Amino acid sequence: MTERTFIAIKPDAVQRGLIGKIISRIEEKGYKIIALKMLEVSEKQAAAHYAEHYGKPFYPNLVKFITSTPIVAMVIEGDNAILGMRQIMGKTNPANAEVGTIRGDFSPEMSFNVIHGSDGPESAEREIAIYFKPEEMCTGWKTAFEILKEKMN
Ligand code: UDP
Ligand code: MG
Repeated sequence: MTERTFIAIKPDAVQRGLIGKIISRIEEKGYKIIALKMLEVSEKQAAAHYAEHYGKPFYPNLVKFITSTPIVAMVIEGDNAILGMRQIMGKTNPANAEVGTIRGDFSPEMSFNVIHGSDGPESAEREIAIYFKPEEMCTGWKTAFEILKEKMN
């Protein structure tokens, strides 16, 4: 099933010059980028994004971190893209993330784990709405993969 998911390249990855490498992994997988921008996350956006973690010990630092330096926000579309992106990202704690995943390869520790991805359909819809207006979604074009699939129908 075609899904949309919210992905953010986090401040540590922006500062470390990893934007291109992370976007490449998403493109190489064959997912479609339908929205993309760099932005400074506001306190309000950070609170909305991480509402589920409010009150946890790591919450204050998480908000401080995500608002500290710009992020690169994206909406990614593809078959089973929510779980698929979580697999490409790897586990939250890079100590447990497989080599070959983005976190496994680029993240030295949990508080600096380089990428965010929605964990399910509801959070994807909610998170996309925090960062993007519907008109910012570029839907009127086809990837080479979509054209290839059409030919096979
Ligand atoms: N986090 C942290 N310490 C923890 C748990 C989480 O610093 O003990 C941070 C980490 O950056 C993580 C984010 O909070 O990516 C959100 O946590 P979540 O459990 O939702 O992980 P994710 O969905 O990002 O894999
Ligand atoms: Mg999460």
